[in-house]
This record gives sequence, C-alpha cells and structure tokens, in this order.
Amino acid sequence: MTIPRIGLGSDVHPIESGRPCWLLGLLFDDADGCSGHSDGDVAVHALCDALLSAASLGDLGSVFGVDQPQWRGVTGARMLEHVRDLLTAAGFTVGNAVVQVIANRPKIGPRREEAQRLLTGLLGAPVSVSATTTDGLGLTGRGEGMAAIATALVVAGSASMPD
Ligand code: MG
Repeated sequence: MTIPRIGLGSDVHPIESGRPCWLLGLLFDDADGCSGHSDGDVAVHALCDALLSAASLGDLGSVFGVDQPQWRGVTGARMLEHVRDLLTAAGFTVGNAVVQVIANRPKIGPRREEAQRLLTGLLGAPVSVSATTTDGLGLTGRGEGMAAIATALVVAGSASMPD
C-alpha cells in the first residue's frame, strides 16, 4: 500500500480598504479584500501551500515568490491550477484537502457550497471549506487581516486511496 502524505499550509494578509475581496476563489462584494503580490486570496494560498508541502514541492514563496513578476496579480484559481499541474507532473494524486478561513468578514456560510464546488473542480479532488472567527481577538478579530489554514492528503503515483 502506498502511504498517504499529509500537507499543511497557512497564510495571513492585511486587509486593505477598498480592495476587491477575493477569497476561496470567489469575489465577495460585501467586504474589503487583502493586499498582496497576487489577488490576496489567503484561503487559496493556504490551500496551495498545503498541497505543495504534502508533495515536498516547496512552498508558496518558492513557486510564486515576489521575485517572479509573471505571477503579479495572479488569481487564486490560476494558482491552484498551477499547483495541481505541478503535483500531477510529479506523479502525485490528491486525496482531499480542507481549508479554514479565520476572519470577521466576509461571511463564508452562505457561499460555502459554491466555494467547495469551485475549488473541488479546479483541484480535481474534494475540497472542504470551513470558517471561524477569533471572537474579537488578535489581528483577525480587530479586522486588520485575514488568515487561513489548510491541510491536504496526497498519494504518490496513481495508487487509489485505501478504503
Ligand atoms: Mg499569501
């Protein structure tokens, strides 16, 4: 049996007043977004980091770093597609992934299903989405930033996951 490999990713970005809010690959028009080299989608960034770490293919900085201008302004969807392609090229199959948003806003619940469908379609494997707040504590609680944490499970080669 091929032993599955886990991955872990996290990200934090400052919120910038008036910036479009891209999160989980979706545009939320009822919240300010995050600043950053790309579209500031902390959730997709954490998800990509988890996938890269599971496959030992580096991290978000080594793949999409600020020293690589071709990725400036890149969308979360495009980043996830690129990471998916890197894992496929390296012979990995994704079992599933989960991502949790930690932020006051936007509210994820009403668009959770939409986000899961989008990310699952892009990755080609089940992606679960959850969200929480920090009850007013810290940078996310004060509304200064958003955070996300993700995990992913992959297997080397095309072996199917154990039942
Ligand atoms: Mg980031």
